[in-house]
Amino acid sequence: MRDFHRGGYALPYPPDAQLGLDRIVLACLREGREPPVGVPHLMRLCELPFSKWPIEISEDCGGPDAVLINPHTRQPSRTCVEWAVSGLHTGADETTSSVLLRLAMGSHSAWATYRDFLIENPVIDLHAGPGFLTRPEMRRIWQHVQALYVDLRPELRCPSCGLFASQGKDGAGWCESESCDAFPQEQEQEQERADKDIKALPRETRLSLVPAGRAEQALRASLLAVGAEVRMAPEPFVHAVVTLPSGATWALVVRVDTQPVLLAEAVQSWGVLAGVARMVVTVPEDVMRRRADYSAVFDRHNTGRDWTLLSTRRFLAEVKRAARKVKARA
Ligand SMILES: [Zn+2]
Repeated sequence: MRDFHRGGYALPYPPDAQLGLDRIVLACLREGREPPVGVPHLMRLCELPFSKWPIEISEDCGGPDAVLINPHTRQPSRTCVEWAVSGLHTGADETTSSVLLRLAMGSHSAWATYRDFLIENPVIDLHAGPGFLTRPEMRRIWQHVQALYVDLRPELRCPSCGLFASQGKDGAGWCESESCDAFPQEQEQEQERADKDIKALPRETRLSLVPAGRAEQALRASLLAVGAEVRMAPEPFVHAVVTLPSGATWALVVRVDTQPVLLAEAVQSWGVLAGVARMVVTVPEDVMRRRADYSAVFDRHNTGRDWTLLSTRRFLAEVKRAARKVKARA
């Protein structure tokens, strides 16, 4: 998958697009349906929910409203990015994590500091000064992580989260995270003119790291406020070890997947972590609410049952309840 900001695909089509077309055509022929006649036709199909595709696609995959290309902006959707990085051992998460691990040279706290920097600064204007890069600590981190950034200039930036945005056919600005509301484009005109030397994380890294990372940072702050301790651990996959006031330790992964079927698939690959009493994956309420059968689909595909899915609010409520029990005993 490529960033096809401005201009769309150029000929010859990328091999992945041709392979995707071949597979869809084959599936259509097998099912006796009319196949798309070329890549442009396939791209138009990608703007439609799976229920309108000529082949049978399980309801669990995608859901009623999911599309692969946002019809307003003609950009790959979050669903598309999730499918693109799912099941890849070289997926964006893993690539970024392995680079960060190498940079941190065995120090988990350095790894967490670098990772938090990426989460907080997915797009950096090097000429925006006097900016935060004038601070020696920030400059030191930047020197370490700058190899993960590329020269990418957003057409627009979302005023809520600072990620890339695109102008839709409706004239509004649409945030690539799909978590923020569409905004009037005039708000960002100044930003567009001011762009000079912009460095940004690549799309897959931005979308797989930043929205989930910010949900995780908010939850970490709430956990600390109720007396829990949180330590981030990069291996065997990125997770937090939460020590409750009772001394019990839980493993926690915060995700924002729109596709519960892919989340369940990821959870299977994590398996069982030694030394923790409970393993929980949390998803923010607003993400789970967008799909009525989110938990049901997750449970159907979470065959290992080692991990429990909770909304972030429910997880925090359970930690608070455990903390109250400890206080009551004291
Ligand atoms: Zn946004």
